[in-house]
Amino acid sequence: MLITFDLDGVLQVNPFGRGVFPEVRKEIGKTLVAKEGLEPEEASRKVMKMIRDEAKRRLLSGDHVGAYDWDDIVRVVGEKVGSPARFDVEQLVIKYCTPDYISSYPYAESTLTQLADMGVRLAVVTNGFYKYQNPVMEGLGLRHFFEDFITPEMVGTVKPYAAIYHATIKGEHSLKLHVGDTIIHDVWGAARAGFEPVWVVHDLPDKVANLLPWERPHSREIEVFMEKSFQSDLSPEAYPEAKVEDCRPVYMIKDLAELLTVVEYAKEKVA
Ligand SMILES: [Mg+2]
Repeated sequence: MLITFDLDGVLQVNPFGRGVFPEVRKEIGKTLVAKEGLEPEEASRKVMKMIRDEAKRRLLSGDHVGAYDWDDIVRVVGEKVGSPARFDVEQLVIKYCTPDYISSYPYAESTLTQLADMGVRLAVVTNGFYKYQNPVMEGLGLRHFFEDFITPEMVGTVKPYAAIYHATIKGEHSLKLHVGDTIIHDVWGAARAGFEPVWVVHDLPDKVANLLPWERPHSREIEVFMEKSFQSDLSPEAYPEAKVEDCRPVYMIKDLAELLTVVEYAKEKVA
């Protein structure tokens, strides 16, 4: 059995939201404060929007790997603004890999330990570059679970495309599961690559949470979640072939401990 994992929103909280981007926004924003007379807050928001827009522009123009190259995105935005600030995003990630800025999700370590003990092959499939993700996983003590840690710059493509998933496959697997929280990348993409998607949704309403992980995807309440999650993607229009109705997962879990239940059930199913 092979289980692949998305990282952000599943195993780890990375330091971009709380550490890296706030520093970059503030530094580049200083130029907007000086040149355009914006309030620091407003300048910072404007810079973040430019960063997001640049990532989106790259996705839409087919530069899929470049859309996750934060060093280059930040450089381009800095130049546009005319900021003298220079950043080494990898070094910023490393600087912010402290308990105030990064964390692992509940049951991450215990679940991975149990899966590894069961002999399940574990791999990472993330759209974050290795240099940004590896320090976080090392910092959280989770890196050693994964021999294969597949990232966009290694394979020249990103989720939701099948090739990044296929890079984890070595030989035959009786079962392939992918665990992730972004519906287009991790559910639609994984299914197309031949993996059974396990969708992580932390805020399941009680009515759905009371169902079993393989029953949840078929409950009526889930349609709203699928639609909402689809629309909240940075750029759903980058994947014109993706339709909400094709994003139904095989399993839904609210925390990682439930993954063990899923694995037991999935094993029975193929036995
Ligand atoms: Mg994620």
